[in-house]
Amino acid sequence: MNNTILEIKNLSKNYHTLNSETKAIDNLSFTIKKNEILAIVGPSGCGKSTLLSILANIEKKSSGEIIKQKDFEIGYMLQSDTLFPWLTIMDNVLIGLKIKRKNNKKNINNAINLLKKYGLYDFRNSYPNNLSGGMRQRVALIRTLAINPQVILLDEPYSALDYQTRKILANDMYKIIKNEQKTAVLITHNIEEAVNMADRVIVLTKRPCRIKNIYEINLKDKSYQYYYDLIWRDLDVNI
Ligand code: ADP
Repeated sequence: MNNTILEIKNLSKNYHTLNSETKAIDNLSFTIKKNEILAIVGPSGCGKSTLLSILANIEKKSSGEIIKQKDFEIGYMLQSDTLFPWLTIMDNVLIGLKIKRKNNKKNINNAINLLKKYGLYDFRNSYPNNLSGGMRQRVALIRTLAINPQVILLDEPYSALDYQTRKILANDMYKIIKNEQKTAVLITHNIEEAVNMADRVIVLTKRPCRIKNIYEINLKDKSYQYYYDLIWRDLDVNI
């Protein structure tokens, strides 16, 4: 059975400024499988955010193909996507639907149900400042899910949080993504998060990024440390 949902073929990206050119992505090819969590790790500045922005259709590719197996929404939660402080939690969650003019009764009810399901409904009339960092990230994820995407793209969703909160949030986000049967692409430079959350991990080389290795994570057969060491070694030789 072919469970590929997105196929990335020979993707390259060059940034052009007035008098220079930066090659960010060099001929990248990989597939994203339905209902998997795919983590993408790589050294800082290697082109991870660029890749995610291209998949989210915010940034243009220079060459290559992105093949969608069917028509579906791709939702994204970028590092810069913070909640609007002047909007309530409810209005923040509904903003994506409003922008896409999809704020019909069915979709609004779906968003309300997500808030209820994940323990945030009691905070619907609060403002982001009144919530903890971890709760704000859960609201941001629900805002992304409210447009009912099949694939969600997450760029370092925990980077601004302390260690303890990160661990709890990673666990919560894992449960939400699996429970809602979504496919997720998670960009991170944190090996621990990648191994603990992902079904597969793609390790990228330094810029311009190419694929260094792809690992299927199976924590039943192999230890966490086994994967950690492999990925660490891949990244270490990159520096
Ligand atoms: P990462 O997410 O892995 O840290 P990025 O995708 O942010 O890496 O950046 C990859 C490279 O592309 C970096 O060298 C960065 O300076 C460059 N870059 C990113 N965005 C732009 C841009 N808008 N214009 C020019 N260069 C950019």
